Amino acid sequence: MSTPETRAMIVQEMPIFTQTTPGRSGASLPELDVPAVDPAKVWPAALLRREPPALPEVSEPEVVRHYVRASSWNFHVDRGMYPLGSCTMKYNPKNADVAASMPAFVELHPYQPVDQIQGALRVMHELELYLAQVAGFARVTLQPAAGAHGELTGLMIIRRYHEDRGRRRTKVLIPDTAHGTNPASCTVNGFSTVQLPTSQRGCLLPEDVARALDDDVAAVMITNPNTLGLFEEHIAEIAELVHRAGGLVYMDGANLNALMGRFRPGDAGVDVMHYNLHKTFGTPHGGGGPGSGPVGVGAALAPFLPVPTVEKNGSVYTLDWDRPKSIGQVRAFVGNFGILLRGYAYIRELGPDGLRLATDMAVLNANYLRAQLKDFLHVPHPDRCMHEVVASDHDLKATGVTTLDIAKRLMDYGFHPPTVYFPLVVHGALMIEPTETETPQTLDCFVSALREIVDDARNRPELVKGAPHSTGLHRLNETQAARKPKLRFGASGE
Ligand SMILES: *Cc1c(COP(=O)(O)O)cnc(C)c1O
Repeated sequence: MSTPETRAMIVQEMPIFTQTTPGRSGASLPELDVPAVDPAKVWPAALLRREPPALPEVSEPEVVRHYVRASSWNFHVDRGMYPLGSCTMKYNPKNADVAASMPAFVELHPYQPVDQIQGALRVMHELELYLAQVAGFARVTLQPAAGAHGELTGLMIIRRYHEDRGRRRTKVLIPDTAHGTNPASCTVNGFSTVQLPTSQRGCLLPEDVARALDDDVAAVMITNPNTLGLFEEHIAEIAELVHRAGGLVYMDGANLNALMGRFRPGDAGVDVMHYNLHKTFGTPHGGGGPGSGPVGVGAALAPFLPVPTVEKNGSVYTLDWDRPKSIGQVRAFVGNFGILLRGYAYIRELGPDGLRLATDMAVLNANYLRAQLKDFLHVPHPDRCMHEVVASDHDLKATGVTTLDIAKRLMDYGFHPPTVYFPLVVHGALMIEPTETETPQTLDCFVSALREIVDDARNRPELVKGAPHSTGLHRLNETQAARKPKLRFGASGE
């Protein structure tokens, strides 16, 4: 037996607009108890519909089932391992969601006067202190809505810092292992970027920075750990060089889940850094949902932070709008408050030791993978990594099987593909981030899946090249799939 919507348990969900039955409704409204108004008497004729809107006519259970079934098509961290490098798709404790769902917070309105939102301001004040302490900064703004937005905010602060000293600096130095958002944020903020090479060991060298430094350099912008999954081991020395030349150091701290409790960027001379709460601190990354990219700064940059800042005077919390050197506001109200609550709950639940343990486990898990993957896949830096490991299809050239095929084949084993073809400095890269929340058993399954795929690549490459075989949809033309999405199953099964 099967219902029209399922074949065995494989969902074939049609768009809800095709499920309409004229006259069916999911709402039961009471009789009108006020005089009816003729819309034609209230609105100009040009604004009135001539035809009713073509909305689906469906019952409540049909709506619920439609969306629940559609959601089950999605792969997510609550369903299985999602080793998307640089994205930190880790399991996030449901406690953080509980905190963010508390009616006392959910029902707040951003225009409420500060004496009615003391609890919310306290959460923000304390979260700022915790984040500052974790990374070694004087102040932190919680306003930016994402990592890239944090970068933009940080660069605006850097620009304003130089302007305040009466100079205009136009260049930002960025190593070739930086995250792609770094140069993009510079361009958006009107800086030009100078790309620096990385060494054989995969790190930025002080001498390469020194060579590029001049009095037009506003800052150096370093992703750390970099996109090879390696710690930038010379960052303190580089910071000293840059400071001596009058520049500032921006560290992209999106992947602080590899560092917290072990390394404080502020102590190494970093002046500005963004955090990704929706990676490291209790909110999943991706899915287009809201994020939060707080920015930490050293004391010299604190005057330039966005307004309002949250201040504590005695036992009273206030919002300070009176900061003449501020870059202004970068987001409506105070930022994505629900994500701040999750970050706060996460930090309070784990505490300093728990945060350090999360880092240690993230790095241990990635190294556990690295140590096994290098036996059967090309790993460009086989001796060490932080929270993620980069492999490539380099040794499979003769088979015709590529990184894309391996990624697609992983779906047949129930794993979300890792990040592919990034970082650009590794040809055919597979960037794998297991995160701290995966068990050794899951990691073993992942390794044996990859091992089998590589064996198959050598012995029966057509199997890997045709993957995935066991998903509702098979190999798609990715360009067409994005440009001309097909929203229903065709006869071909595509
Ligand atoms: C994820 C990430 C970003 C961008 O963060 P978004 O919230 O996606 O804008 C920037 N840098 C690095 C290193 C990242 O991993």
